[in-house]
Amino acid sequence: MPGPRIAVVGGGISGLTAAFRLGTQLPGAEVVVLEGWRAVGGKLRLGTVAGLSVDVGAEAMLARRPEGVGLVHELGCSDAMIAPLTTSAQVRAGGATHPLPARTMLGIPADLDAVRASGVLSEHALDRVAAEPGADPLQPLEDDVAVGMLVRSRLGEEVADRLVEPLLGGVYAGRADDLSLCATMPALARRLAAGGGSLIRAAQEVTDVGAHDPAAGPVFASLAGGLGSLPGALTARGRFTVRTSTTVRAIRRTPTGFVLYCGPVPAPELVEAEAVIVATPAAKAALLLRDVAPAAATALRAIDSASMAITTLAYRDVSLPGGSGLLIGANEGFGVKAVTLSTQKWPLATDGLTLLRASVGRAGENHLLQRDDDELIALVRHELRTLIGVAAEPVDALVTRWGGGLPQYAVGHVGRVARVRAAVGAVPGLGVCGAAYDGVGIPACIASAQAAADQVIASLRTGAE
Ligand SMILES: Cc1cc2nc3c(=O)[nH]c(=O)nc-3n(C[C@H](O)[C@H](O)[C@H](O)COP(=O)(O)OP(=O)(O)OC[C@H]3O[C@@H](n4cnc5c(N)ncnc54)[C@H](O)[C@@H]3O)c2cc1C
Repeated sequence: MPGPRIAVVGGGISGLTAAFRLGTQLPGAEVVVLEGWRAVGGKLRLGTVAGLSVDVGAEAMLARRPEGVGLVHELGCSDAMIAPLTTSAQVRAGGATHPLPARTMLGIPADLDAVRASGVLSEHALDRVAAEPGADPLQPLEDDVAVGMLVRSRLGEEVADRLVEPLLGGVYAGRADDLSLCATMPALARRLAAGGGSLIRAAQEVTDVGAHDPAAGPVFASLAGGLGSLPGALTARGRFTVRTSTTVRAIRRTPTGFVLYCGPVPAPELVEAEAVIVATPAAKAALLLRDVAPAAATALRAIDSASMAITTLAYRDVSLPGGSGLLIGANEGFGVKAVTLSTQKWPLATDGLTLLRASVGRAGENHLLQRDDDELIALVRHELRTLIGVAAEPVDALVTRWGGGLPQYAVGHVGRVARVRAAVGAVPGLGVCGAAYDGVGIPACIASAQAAADQVIASLRTGAE
């Protein structure tokens, strides 16, 4: 008896991980990944700058969550894993550059001495932060709130603008006043729902977990050869096939499963499958699920995204400030929101070249991206003079654009995701995974993919019985 045919739509880290899991757990299954672009990987991508192969999408993954490093081990790539050379970073806030204080929960201070030493907050703001645990207790959190609203009301504008905004801008390309506390800081939200009483104390409790464990290892990891080599390792070792340049335009149900309409609208190619996992960004998933799970499509349509561009620059002789990079506050008057000093952050073989990358574009800043590549490079170079004192001419520069690159977890996101999952779960053989759901970071995407694969396997087994 041939095994079931399972189609995975989207060949980013989520779709590839789901396909890898399906191939491993169901050796008889015929698993196919249908990817619209000419290559798999999605936001994990390598580009060439000054003849060097570098990450032009995601470049680091959280190593304190098990899923990312676990997958690397499972793929037999443990030897390629690298740790950052330094974790000290800086933040541009209040018109000056300061060390980024250690131990914050996405900018919410957990170590008052570290914040004081960094000089990022005024004395007045520091006094307010210090007084918060003794202030009127915070009522148990009943509903989701915007991170900015909560932080501003408990800790003041400076903490929100100078610490939380730069960190949320770096991770989500989003704004503190729009992003959901429950979705971006779930552990903190759980503590506050249980009646934590103080935002500072809750941040201390959350950041305390594992902080003193000497065996915990580095917080972040990457791969020699770039994180962009992970998709290749998945396709090389997985028991599934990949079809690139194959955009799926619609999914319909059939008596035995699903039919996927691929390729050009006038001449679609039909792919039949007993099960389907949709692993695309939210807007595309909404289109694809419109017929098979309309309630999921409605909830997905409400998830917005932010676009950005990564400019990678290579220099022959240049001197940089110390540390791994710089985050820039949203109200500081710069287009650049983050700078990574790649050759200082990672042990890269660069033939003496210095590499750095600058990220432009937060939610609502599309106007910044409406420039051609040369104009964008000129903007970045102009701002790098002020931000890190680099005026030198790069030997090469590459712009990589990520339209709709990061989903925005607005207030109510967790509820929206629950509605998507309920609607999808009601359709036997259907699954969803990806950055739109439980976290944008690579380990969270991997976790969502593994869960989707397990759900589809369980559904197929139930159907077979
Ligand atoms: C510039 C940038 C830097 C980042 N840096 C980091 C980082 O350092 N660390 C970290 O943890 N996270 C980082 N992230 C976030 C993380 O990389 C992403 O959230 C994650 O890679 C998303 O993976 P995914 O598989 O869910 O989606 P994607 O990578 O978006 O993959 C979805 C795939 O689906 C395909 N597709 C879409 N529609 C269709 C269709 N109709 N038919 C067929 N295929 C389709 C797309 O072409 C794409 O390949 C970064 C994100 C960006 C944009």
